[in-house]
Amino acid sequence: MLVIGLTGGIASGKTAVSDRLAARGAAVIDTDLLAREIVAPGEPALAEIAAAFGPAALRPDGGLDRKALGAIVFADPAARERLNAITHPRIRERMAATLAALRRHDPAPPAAVLVVPLLFENGLDRLADESWVVDVDDAVQRARLIARDGLTPPEAEARIEAQMPRAEKLARATRIVRNDAGLAELDAEIDRVWRAAGLP
Ligand code: ATP
Repeated sequence: MLVIGLTGGIASGKTAVSDRLAARGAAVIDTDLLAREIVAPGEPALAEIAAAFGPAALRPDGGLDRKALGAIVFADPAARERLNAITHPRIRERMAATLAALRRHDPAPPAAVLVVPLLFENGLDRLADESWVVDVDDAVQRARLIARDGLTPPEAEARIEAQMPRAEKLARATRIVRNDAGLAELDAEIDRVWRAAGLP
């Protein structure tokens, strides 16, 4: 089972790519989903967040108030560090456990794909055999981000600017999945990269 860390800038097409890898039999592990699971009611991380950030981080029903917590950590880098110290080890643990469970499957899938927006930033590429970067040119990225999320051009720009530069991601890629053209071209690109990785 080849473990692939899949990343790329905002709106580069990570979901479009991971859907297509799933269609080829890969198991897809979505970090955003894991990040939600570890803070579900009853999970230890939720209690730790409540202890660290107080009732402002919780909704009246006791669940995590993601919006309020987001506002707290957005404004305060030290608070963000505290939150990451609570959540990141658990996300990593759950990822590793999921990979171990997949390896025990008989037959194991040919590939497991960790979809991680901050793959390199958070060192999760260390769990993967290969890092695949979905890449689009700047103009395509802006246009897709604006169309999908209904942003103004300056809002889109700010979100792109907040991320690791494209060149840095590309420099760390084992393989690059180009996604500038349409979905038919993406299918062909996936086919090429899948074979290049020696997948069946
Ligand atoms: P995020 O970083 O926000 O999680 P993402 O990297 O998962 O985004 P997607 O949601 O897969 O990106 O793609 C961004 C947008 O671009 C979506 O609206 C998607 O439908 C569209 N898109 C992706 N690939 C293509 C393509 N090859 N042709 C046309 N549209 C595309």
